[in-house]
Amino acid sequence: MPKLAALAALVFLLVGCGPVEAQTLRPLEGETVRVVATIGMVGDAAGRVGGERVEVETLMGPGIDPHLYKASEGDLRRVERADIIFYGGLHLEAKMADVFERVAEERTTVAVSERIPVRERLAPPGFEGSYDPHVWFDVALWRHAVEEIRDTLAERDPGSAALYRRNAAAYLAELEALDEYVRAQAERVPRERRVLITAHDAFEYFGRTYGFDVRGLQGISTASEAGAGDVKGLARFIAERRIPAIFVESSVSPRTIEAVREAVEARGFDVRVGGSLFSDAMGDPGTPEGTYVGMVRHNIDTIVAGLLG
Ligand SMILES: [Zn+2]
Repeated sequence: MPKLAALAALVFLLVGCGPVEAQTLRPLEGETVRVVATIGMVGDAAGRVGGERVEVETLMGPGIDPHLYKASEGDLRRVERADIIFYGGLHLEAKMADVFERVAEERTTVAVSERIPVRERLAPPGFEGSYDPHVWFDVALWRHAVEEIRDTLAERDPGSAALYRRNAAAYLAELEALDEYVRAQAERVPRERRVLITAHDAFEYFGRTYGFDVRGLQGISTASEAGAGDVKGLARFIAERRIPAIFVESSVSPRTIEAVREAVEARGFDVRVGGSLFSDAMGDPGTPEGTYVGMVRHNIDTIVAGLLG
C-alpha cells in the first residue's frame, strides 16, 4: 500500500534523524566531560552551563560560515574523542550531517535548536519542510537551546546535575536582561526606520521579535548566490525608502553588500555601510564580541547607531 509505505518511510525518517537517547549510554563520572560544539554561540552556552566540569572545544571560530563548513581531519578526531556533541541543527551545519549521523550511536549528539517548539520556528517560503536555523538572534528563543544543553549535561552526568542547573539559571537570567536591553535599544529607532539590510538572511528571528523589516541579499543559506537582479531590486528599495545604512557580516564576504552600496550610489542616493555584524560566528576570543552576550550587544548597538546616524 503506498500510504503505508509512506507512513513507514516517515517513521523511519523520524527515528533515523532523532538524537540518540542519552540513557542508552553509561553516565559520565569522575573525569572532565568532553564537549564538542560547532558554532561559537553553542560552545559559549555549553561552557557557561558546564562550568569547570566540562571542557568545550568549538569547531567553528571567528569568521567561519557554518552553512559551508566541512569537518577537517582534526575536527573528526575531536568529535571521536568527545562525550557530547552539541550542534545548532535545523540544517545550519548542512555539510556535517553525515559526521553527526556516523557518531550518533556511540556519543550523545544533540541539535540544540531543535528543542524550540515548531510553532515558534520560522518556515521561510521556498525552504520547504525546513526551518530557518538562525534562532540565536531572538534572545528569548535561544533560552530553549540553553535548556537543552543543561538537560543533556544533567542527564549524562547526573552527579553534577545541581551544578548545571545553577549555572544555567544564572546564564538564563543574563539572557533575560540581554533581551530587555536589545528591546530597549531597538525602540530608540522609529518604527518606519527599522529596516535591516545584510548580506544573507540571518536576522529574520531578530526582525520578528524586535520589530525590524529584514532584507538579506542572499537567502537563508550562503550557499545560494545573489544575482544581479537581487542587487538591483535591493538598491531600488534602499534608494526609495532612503535607508541610511546597510551592514556587512563577519562570516560573509563584504563583496555583495559593497555591490549593493555602489548600485544605490548609481541611483543618486548615498547609503553607508553601517558596520560589521556578527551573524553566524562570534568575534575573537578574549574580546567582548567573543561571547554570545557580547556579540548580540555589539549587533544592536551597531544597528541602532547606523540607522539613527
Ligand atoms: Zn546563516
